[in-house]
Amino acid sequence: MLLEHFDVLIVGGGLSGVAAAFSLQKHCPHKTYTILEARDNIGGTWDLFRYPGVRSDSDMYTLGYSFRPWVGTNALADGSSILEYIRRTASENGIDRKVRYHHRVTRAAWNGAQAQWRIDVERGEQRQLVQYTCNFLFACTGYYSYEEGHSPPFPASDRFAGAIVHPQKWPAQLSYANKRIVVIGSGATAVTLIPAMAKTASHVTMLQRSPTYVVSAPDRDRVVDFLRRHLPMPLAYRLIRWRSVLFGIVFFQLCRRYPVAIRNFILRGVRRALGADFDIASHFTPRYNPWDQRLCLVPDGDLFKAIKAGKAAVHTGQIHSFTRHGVKLQSGEELPADIIVTATGLNLVVLGNIELVVDGKIIDPAKTISYKGTMYSGVPNLGSVFGYTNASWTLKCELTCDYLCRVLNFMDRSRRRVCVPLNEDPSVVPETWLNLSSGYIQRSVDRVPKQGSRRPWKLHQNYLLDLLMFRLSAIDDGVLRFSNPA
Ligand SMILES: Cc1cc2nc3c(=O)[nH]c(=O)nc-3n(C[C@H](O)[C@H](O)[C@H](O)COP(=O)(O)OP(=O)(O)OC[C@H]3O[C@@H](n4cnc5c(N)ncnc54)[C@H](O)[C@@H]3O)c2cc1C
Repeated sequence: MLLEHFDVLIVGGGLSGVAAAFSLQKHCPHKTYTILEARDNIGGTWDLFRYPGVRSDSDMYTLGYSFRPWVGTNALADGSSILEYIRRTASENGIDRKVRYHHRVTRAAWNGAQAQWRIDVERGEQRQLVQYTCNFLFACTGYYSYEEGHSPPFPASDRFAGAIVHPQKWPAQLSYANKRIVVIGSGATAVTLIPAMAKTASHVTMLQRSPTYVVSAPDRDRVVDFLRRHLPMPLAYRLIRWRSVLFGIVFFQLCRRYPVAIRNFILRGVRRALGADFDIASHFTPRYNPWDQRLCLVPDGDLFKAIKAGKAAVHTGQIHSFTRHGVKLQSGEELPADIIVTATGLNLVVLGNIELVVDGKIIDPAKTISYKGTMYSGVPNLGSVFGYTNASWTLKCELTCDYLCRVLNFMDRSRRRVCVPLNEDPSVVPETWLNLSSGYIQRSVDRVPKQGSRRPWKLHQNYLLDLLMFRLSAIDDGVLRFSNPA
């Protein structure tokens, strides 16, 4: 059933879908658009994840939108406050009225003769097939599977008598008060969950194969409080946001240039928090350099406090098998548990698993090169959002959305209906897109588009460089080709 035509279809009603809609309304007010969202709610990540303590791990001054100040008191915010913030942004700007829920996009087929996408959608619980057409497709689908998280098989897991829970599907009724918990994993989710559960659990053990860098950050920032007290909110927010951006860039560069010094600095912080007797070498000293994987921020050192108070502990070792009453390690030791939480990560997916077809030919995203981190070589009239790996997602998301609006306006002005990035420079070498060694990225490296070795195919992971590229560079750069159907 063919439903409607829109100038732009946005897929995904998360933080990025709302940003994309805001940009379109602001910069291309004449364009018709709608948002197709697979779930029954707006907010994406911040609606899906409901585990105890769920929060941001980057500051809200940069994870929040530039156009709507984050007025919360804490730099790292809890999931429900972020969800509320996204919802309010959508409703204040009339974006919520543009969302069609229970619309899962499964296929997008480009017809070059008509310069249009035909979008296949499964609608509602019956998964009724409906179709839309649009001139430009905007994928704001996030980066991981909503179906299920990464759950590696553990030997004898069926023998365990208690509950095994993955943070992506947290059972609302799960009671863990006075229970012994083992959390498998050492990433952002594990370090968030552990202090939150330790408040009421009898004991929580973090069981990790190898350590991660964990850095304590003040939950409340005195400079932020000062600026907010003395300056009008919009100005204060701008300054606070820029301070966070610059701090993040400088810290990342220091990690890259002086990894040993930064490593020692981070480990000194852990030692100060846990005391000289704690085995920091085994449990908090990763084998990689800072920012080879995302750092884990813990507000006011809450994880360290839970460990010091004896409410939580860290074990570093390999799992042998699950037992009836817990987890047996290869060392022979057994960790008793009533509940096991498998904080083992996400399954990365590309473009919301939408099958892309261009003039009858199925596109393998892994064979494309990403243009400016948003479009794909050989794929016309398609943009997507993928945030930074070393800074807040929203920074890159907003640059991308505004840039795609520039492209749309350029096409209108120059009366051309098709844009497609084409790489005809033999000196551009395809490289891995994502610059982190984290498990979920390495597991998916064969399915993800590449980046190129040179501009405009190179991903900077640097807000300042991207700001120049997205805002100031010519739209018609000879690589992004513009045309009309024959
Ligand atoms: C627990 C957790 C904490 C995080 N903390 C931070 C942080 O502190 N800082 C940071 O920068 N990033 C963080 N991230 C990354 C986070 O995902 C991004 O910050 C941001 O929320 C991504 O927004 P998005 O809208 O691009 O994607 P998502 O939030 O994933 O939303 C995507 C939306 O698209 C919909 N969708 C997907 N495929 C389809 C389809 N085929 N058809 C229709 N709809 C579809 C989904 O249902 C969803 O609503 C975190 C991620 C997780 C999981």
